[in-house]
Amino acid sequence: MIPFIDLQAQQKRIKPQIDRAIAGVMAHGQYIMGPEVAQLENNLAEYVGSRHCVVVSNGTDALSMALMAFEVGPGDAVITTPFTFFATVEAIMLRGATPIFADIDPDTCNIEPQEIQNAIHRSRQQGLVPRGVIAVDLFGLPADYDRINEIANRENLFVIQDGAQAFGAETFGPELEVRKCPNHATIGTTSFFPAKPLGCYGDGGAVFTNDDSLAKMVRSIRVHGKGADKYDNVRLGLNARLDTIQAAILIEKLKIYPEEFETRQQVATEYRERIQKVNETIESPDMKIRFQATPKNGRSAWAQFIIQSPQRDEIANHLKSRGIPSVVYYRTPANLLQACANLDGPPMPHSEKVSRRILALPFHPYLDVTTIDLVVQALEEVVSVSQVSKG
Ligand SMILES: *Cc1c(COP(=O)(O)O)cnc(C)c1O
Repeated sequence: MIPFIDLQAQQKRIKPQIDRAIAGVMAHGQYIMGPEVAQLENNLAEYVGSRHCVVVSNGTDALSMALMAFEVGPGDAVITTPFTFFATVEAIMLRGATPIFADIDPDTCNIEPQEIQNAIHRSRQQGLVPRGVIAVDLFGLPADYDRINEIANRENLFVIQDGAQAFGAETFGPELEVRKCPNHATIGTTSFFPAKPLGCYGDGGAVFTNDDSLAKMVRSIRVHGKGADKYDNVRLGLNARLDTIQAAILIEKLKIYPEEFETRQQVATEYRERIQKVNETIESPDMKIRFQATPKNGRSAWAQFIIQSPQRDEIANHLKSRGIPSVVYYRTPANLLQACANLDGPPMPHSEKVSRRILALPFHPYLDVTTIDLVVQALEEVVSVSQVSKG
């Protein structure tokens, strides 16, 4: 059986370092806010090029904390994409605020900046105050922050970058200067859930910002709204710390991340080249397999490698019969989820169409070409059979 994401391959590679890191924490015994936590924050901030990094309990809390730092609450609208993991939307609703959806660009699967303007208008129509935007870098691909930030500046909105799937993904500026995710907005968040590009061995997350006062606020929120200490509570907060053991593990995993990031690019290229050949055998343009658009001016973190096809379910079933796992991200856009049934809003045609066609293939930096060949061959079998049956 081929694994969808092979975490064992990485573990085998760095097991002695991880064992030593965990043993180090056991030896000093500072399980909460031990020295590894501050060290990891420094390493992550340096890697991303951000002034501040605050490591936290998970990627969902990171989003909640960002919204708390902007003092979002009832009567506020936060504009976001419906084509995301529910956590993005949930964080907004848990603050008592209202998510207003802006549809995606079907090629990138990320929020379409043009739709944000429309969503601002709809927020006001509903009697809400549009406060900000949460953009998601879906499957590792950075959203279009040049345009998102421009609209947000004009409309006086904050921007939160949900980089849960995109840690370390890159965009290149006009002088080819590199900007790494999630450092494209006022606050960026990420997740260290084990299956994310940079994962720990449990739950974890981080908040990034270049703003000193927001960083201070997030540090306070992380420990019950602490002031001078945790018994001097100056605001409502959470218990949202990252365990020292997870920090120690992440310090080791971050060391090999740059290399894994490069391998992810290679695996994606191998997939694309092979699937492109399959596409050449498909006559009807509608039936061709589509990829997530790759940026000319950047690089995805490839949290997932997705395809879009009208034969999605046939493909998934056939792969399964060959022992190849695949996953549908996301079967239901947030605007159609039961948890959002009380929200008003128009249909989201692009998200709804993509949700019927999308399929994620096995992907991780240790995927070899033999396995890629097996996956693509199985894919080709479905497509060629349907060509013949139509012929
Ligand atoms: C995984 C994920 C989250 C939540 O992260 P957790 O660490 O699981 O809480 C939020 N947003 C997106 C887009 C995600 O993929």
